[in-house]
Parts: sequence; structure tokens; C-alpha cells
Amino acid sequence: MQPFNIHVLGCGSALPTRRHLPSCQVVDLRGKLLMLDCGEGAQLSWRRTGLNWQNLQHILITHTHGDHVFGLPGLISTMGLLGRKAPLFVYAPEALHPFLECILRDFCRDLDYEVHFKAVDTQAHFLLFEDRSMEVWTLPLSHRVPCCGYLIKEKAGLPHIRREMIDFYNIPLWAINKIKAGADWELDDGTIVPHEHLTSPADRIRSYAYCSDTMPTSMLAEWLAGVDLLYHEATYADTESMLAEKYGHSTARQAALTAQRAGVKKLLLGHFSSRYDDESVLLREACEVFPDTVVAYEGMRISP
Ligand SMILES: [Zn+2]
Ligand SMILES: [Zn+2]
Repeated sequence: MQPFNIHVLGCGSALPTRRHLPSCQVVDLRGKLLMLDCGEGAQLSWRRTGLNWQNLQHILITHTHGDHVFGLPGLISTMGLLGRKAPLFVYAPEALHPFLECILRDFCRDLDYEVHFKAVDTQAHFLLFEDRSMEVWTLPLSHRVPCCGYLIKEKAGLPHIRREMIDFYNIPLWAINKIKAGADWELDDGTIVPHEHLTSPADRIRSYAYCSDTMPTSMLAEWLAGVDLLYHEATYADTESMLAEKYGHSTARQAALTAQRAGVKKLLLGHFSSRYDDESVLLREACEVFPDTVVAYEGMRISP
């Protein structure tokens, strides 16, 4: 299977701790890199992943709280120092625009690459962009400021060539790509060998959803239906449910309920409040509702 890896660079909430950094993830889908949120320390954590900066094409920001955007100045500046030439696309609620302009105007005047800002409508569920490998959809969330998550759906790949059949019919190399793309093969006597006999089905299509920060919302489970891996914020335990409501967050149990309603395959918890010395209480409360739950940690690599 082609790579579809999520690298967790930060999974804490507003207050950094000795164990957690603010929100940031990098998605590697077939070698193309997307960043999800850009909390403080993002560029330092990135260094530890060994991923190539040049392959970062898009940064998707959920909302304009500092724990999701304070890493942008350093990251944008460093990519300039490293000689980046390729354009970078930053998607975020409109409120990020002045902050980004300030970064570019006051700290990054001499960049050799362009930074394009795209405002995201946080009220609507829509296809934000697509390329040959993926579709990226928005997921309206409910927080104290305009906020949206992102759903990344892999596009179907090409079927696999059955080497033994290619050898059997002595099919030349130049025909392989055509057969992969759907062509049949005609033998010298005019017999048609169907494409299906020469190939095995493409890999299954995978999907990943990133939902931070949000209170439970009625529509979210519908948009997340059948997702392979769901990252959902779980800032608080049951005992702090009043705080979750007050600050527009979810408890681990609420995250698990969303996962259960949506019928996702696996739930990844993150955005942990600094009050917890470890996440065992959050994991336990989530697992009571949705057993296939894991907790994120800095340096984690996980695939849908
Ligand atoms: Zn946050
Ligand atoms: Zn927030």
C-alpha cells in the first residue's frame, strides 16, 4: 500500500506542558505532505520526523486560537531560509488573514516562495480541494470562534498488474500502463484478454478526519460516517464536563460518542488539558463507549 501516515507533532491544548506541545499534525499521503494546525514548536517537531519540507504543499488551520497557529511565523520563515521555491497554500478561517499578512510583511519579506491564503467557510461542509491522490473536505465544528475540521479522503489508485499473467501472455512493457488504466490486451489471433484477468483490484481507499476544537455537534457524525481514522479533541474528563461546555470543547466520552454514531473504525484522542498527568482517565472513559480508541502522543505515527 502507498503511504498514508499521520505524524502527531503536538496534541496538547492551550498550555504547553513537559509532555505535550500545542496542536499540529503532518499527513503524508503518497509522499504529499499536508499540515493540520500549526501550534508553537511545529518546526522543531517537524525536524524530528525527518520529512522533507519541500513536500509540504498545504497548511490547513482549524481556527485562530494561539495553540493552533503560533507555529506559523517560524515555519514560514525557516522554509524561506532553506530555499523553498514552491508555493505554499494556507487554508483557514478568514480571521487568520491579517495575522498571516503581518507575518509575511514584517518577518518574511525576502521569501523566494509565494504563500497563498484561502479563506475557508467554516459553516459549510464542502470539497476544499482535490488532486490526483486525495480530496479534502471541510467539517464545520462548534467552538468559541469560527472553526472547522478537515476530512482527507484518498482517491482510488490504479489496479495492480498480475505479473504472472503479463509473463504468460508475453505482454510488452509499453502496454503495462495502458492495462493498468483499464485497457484489455489483444492476442495475435485476435482473442481479447480482459483487463480484469491481467490485474488485481486497487488498494482499499482510506480516510482520515481531524476534528479540533469542538463541542459535540449534531451533523458531525453524519459527515464522518465510515471514516477509517478519526482524530477528535478530548480536552476533558467527565468530571470537567461543565468546563468543556463553557469553553467549547468535548470530553473524551463525547468524542467517543461521536465516533460511535459515525461508525468510524478507529478513534484517536488529542488536545489534552494540561491538568492531566497522563491520559488514562480520558482513554478509559472513551473506551467505555468506543473500545477502538487510542491516545495521541508527540512523535506518534499512525495510519488510517
Ligand atoms: Zn485548541
Ligand atoms: Zn480553540
